[in-house]
Amino acid sequence: MRVPDHGRPELLTSVLASNDYTMLTMNILIIAAAVVIGLTASPALASDAEFGPSNPFFAPSTLPFQAPPFDKIKDEDYQPAMEAGMAEERKEIDAIANNPAPPTFENTIVAMEKSGQLLQRVQAAFFSVSAANTNPALQKVRSIEAPKLAAHQDAIHLDAKLFQRVSTIYQERASLKLNPESLRLVEHTYDQFVHAGANLSEADKTELKKLNEELATLSNAFSTKLLAATKDGAYVTTDKAALAGLSEGKVSGAAEAAKSRKVEGFVLPLQNTTQQPDLVSLTDRNTREALFANSWNRAERGDANDTRDTIARIAQLRAQKGKLLGFSSFAAWKIEDQMAKTPEAALKFMNALVPAATAKAASEAQDIQAVIDGQRGGFKVQPSDWDFYAEQVRKAKYDLDEEQVKPYFELDNVLQNGVFYAANQLYGLTFKERKDLPVYAPGVRVFEVFNADGSSLALFYSDYFKRDNKQGGAWMNSLVGQSKLLGTKPVVSNVANFPMPAPGEPALLTSDDVRTMFHEFGHALHGMFANTEFPSLSGTSTARDFVEFPSQFNEHWATYPTVFQHYAKHYKTGAPMPAELLAKIKKSATFNKGYDTTELLAAAELDMMWHTLPASAPIQKPDAFENEALQQTHLSISYVPPRYRSSYFSHIWGSGYSAGYYAYLWTQMLDDDAYQWFEDHGGLTRANGDRFRSMVLSRGNTEDLEKMYVAWRGAQPSIEPMLKYRGLTSGGPAK
Ligand SMILES: [Zn+2]
Repeated sequence: MRVPDHGRPELLTSVLASNDYTMLTMNILIIAAAVVIGLTASPALASDAEFGPSNPFFAPSTLPFQAPPFDKIKDEDYQPAMEAGMAEERKEIDAIANNPAPPTFENTIVAMEKSGQLLQRVQAAFFSVSAANTNPALQKVRSIEAPKLAAHQDAIHLDAKLFQRVSTIYQERASLKLNPESLRLVEHTYDQFVHAGANLSEADKTELKKLNEELATLSNAFSTKLLAATKDGAYVTTDKAALAGLSEGKVSGAAEAAKSRKVEGFVLPLQNTTQQPDLVSLTDRNTREALFANSWNRAERGDANDTRDTIARIAQLRAQKGKLLGFSSFAAWKIEDQMAKTPEAALKFMNALVPAATAKAASEAQDIQAVIDGQRGGFKVQPSDWDFYAEQVRKAKYDLDEEQVKPYFELDNVLQNGVFYAANQLYGLTFKERKDLPVYAPGVRVFEVFNADGSSLALFYSDYFKRDNKQGGAWMNSLVGQSKLLGTKPVVSNVANFPMPAPGEPALLTSDDVRTMFHEFGHALHGMFANTEFPSLSGTSTARDFVEFPSQFNEHWATYPTVFQHYAKHYKTGAPMPAELLAKIKKSATFNKGYDTTELLAAAELDMMWHTLPASAPIQKPDAFENEALQQTHLSISYVPPRYRSSYFSHIWGSGYSAGYYAYLWTQMLDDDAYQWFEDHGGLTRANGDRFRSMVLSRGNTEDLEKMYVAWRGAQPSIEPMLKYRGLTSGGPAK
């Protein structure tokens, strides 16, 4: 029995869909609402006619690494397999709960680890494909099954007989002579049950199940509305002059986007974040203002896709859930099992960053204002101006132009000679492309990954190019989780939304894209190095405020001299990046970090303010609440809006990062601190890499994460390296 991992989308960017999508989403909302009204305690059983040996999920895949047989899986296979998977797991769990033998580690805890394999198989494939390559049929399945899966999980965690057995083993654990990983599993399983409400009275359990199902439906409704709102929020113009400043490629891309939507002129689709990438180059201030306003107001237009009522209701229900489970707020409940442990600890950490981050942002704003004034602009810098003038500051101060850099970042070269090379130098890994394995969409590539001794470690799928039916952003997914108990090896994927080049043209990346590739590959390494007995403790199945640590840590190698020199070569000539250009990149490493850190902090504090509301609070008006929250946290800054506004903050309403967005900053502290250790011990060496792999990356959640970190680091994590690497100390940039 494992809680499904629906991927961890971050850096969420844009989402597009076909023209008839809006109509469809309305139907989904109606269907999803009907599910809650007709709510049942256990999922409906799928009939044999729907699910049998002809369904590709019926038996474990016979492909290498049990890779999903994507060539055989059809859209209509998922739902019956999911229904049968829930029914099968329910039966397995019932057998454990009703076992007449007294509870033992083997007959209860290990038996639970072995249960639910069919559901796991279908969920891993389904959530990967429905995020990266969706269509109306998959969207429909997702909206119907999401509340059922929530109910299914609840039915297990709130099963009194089962919890009695788990509880007995937990009480006796000291005398059971368990090895450390098994002991950790007992404690982890018990904590999960209690966290999910196993100690509640039967009446409260019923109440909790209702809350959870309504929350699952609302969360799904939010995602559906936001997808449509983001699409509708695109900037549309018939006036080519309004796009002045965009490259020719961008303009023709905008014309293509218009064509595919069957509208006149040009379309700039919205990315998920508040700031939009095109704002850096659009020279017409009116266009910038309009594009920014579209982004800022996308989900607040008073139409069917306005999310404000939905999020206010989610916040209210979550506060009630926190109270029901015995906590002062939803956040207090949610963070209980995280590394930070309490909202107070997370807030204290964030509040400590606010003065340094906002001071740096203020000095960046001064530089920008000076450029505006120098050009007799006659206005105060607005958020819609920031990137446009920041880029000019960057050119003036560092003489760095992103267009000069891109020819040195050709995608396949970055992948093979950068991302893979760093993993080879640190961990001895080698990679071999396999064209014999089926994929879920054209363009997806598969690599077999080998250890230094030649043994086969994992499969790695890459899916880097934007598709209109792909969720925005970039993420890592686990297609098959590692477990010695189940005899499975890892199969992981990295997904991103890099622009697809025109036919015959190379895919040239920005520095940000390169960083994203290293980031997601850090998650992939965490999954591929997993070397644990039990699936529940394997790989990336760790706390949210730990899981972004390996990924952000891996970003450091993107600019590490020997790695950088190895991949940053001109796509036409193969010439290495000229030393002056490289020096400029290094010099500008802390450029705009005040803004970047402040917009992240603003989003993270907003998340925490929403989720520390007490259950007694009335339903909130999102705009007023947001203003008040930013005031209170000293982050109401006219020129730095939050990275996500409440109404389109997908991480916290739709993707499981509720009361958890601080994790990105928290893990920045960890990754900078960890990188400092490497710097102090000779940098990129096999010895350092192997030590990190054996003490951290391979360990999953088999030990208390803080203890694991401290054992590897030799000290508690410190905030100092983070301030240093981000140039947030008074001493200025460190590198
Ligand atoms: Zn990540």
